[in-house]
Amino acid sequence: MDSFCKSARDSASPFNCLVFDLDDTLYSSRTGIAEALRKNIDDYLVEKCGFAESKASSLRSELFRTYGSSLAGLRALGYDIDADDYHSYVHGRLPYHLIKPDPQLRNVVLSIPQRKIIFTNSDGAHAIRVLKRLGLEDCFDQIICFETMNPNLSKSTHPNEFPVLLKPSLDAMQIAIQAADVDPRHTLFLDDNHRNVAAGKTVGLRTVLVGKSVRTMEADYAVEAVKDLPKVIPEIWAVPVEGRDQALVRTRSEIDSIPTPTPVGA
Ligand SMILES: [Mg+2]
Repeated sequence: MDSFCKSARDSASPFNCLVFDLDDTLYSSRTGIAEALRKNIDDYLVEKCGFAESKASSLRSELFRTYGSSLAGLRALGYDIDADDYHSYVHGRLPYHLIKPDPQLRNVVLSIPQRKIIFTNSDGAHAIRVLKRLGLEDCFDQIICFETMNPNLSKSTHPNEFPVLLKPSLDAMQIAIQAADVDPRHTLFLDDNHRNVAAGKTVGLRTVLVGKSVRTMEADYAVEAVKDLPKVIPEIWAVPVEGRDQALVRTRSEIDSIPTPTPVGA
């Protein structure tokens, strides 16, 4: 690993590390997973917290907007919700079979020479299940997830003792930078949520808005899908300074060997 990281540091690439969000970033928001997740959260609000069925959906949206997630919101409002119980309810029952292996994405991710890290608000069990479904379980060096940002939650004696930390909170971003041990100026952060991208920019990361063709003010780049990275940000694969010409040939052919995604509607 050390020599691997060193070669990335010595390269002409402006990036030493790539940090990827998971849901709606490594797979499309149109798989049906996001919809099923919203339904599970609504059911949780009704079944476990006693809210009226007619209010659940609007309450979920409001908690997300204000607190970053329903779990964070419920705990901030004083509900003693156990995070593991919440995650096994809302994530444990997701139709994971809707996420299909993505060999094209795997090729692109494996061709990236820098360290690759997952940074997700979801719990670790969900992250691993999604990566396995995509065929990417062996492609990342580290997973930074809910548990990384909230290590003391299970020790709390009341719901407000440790506020739930999640993207886009700047504290959560700093925890991730520390956990990843990266220099944000040389780290590329990819996320489908523009608020997360804005938070990334604030803490000094280079940013990519995923799922959009037009970038927001805080995004340095925009890609429709992660597999478009070779076309949109070829400098990720920039070559070592020594032996530049030779390496350029090799790298160019490596980039060309990455399958070109089929354009939407083609
Ligand atoms: Mg996301």
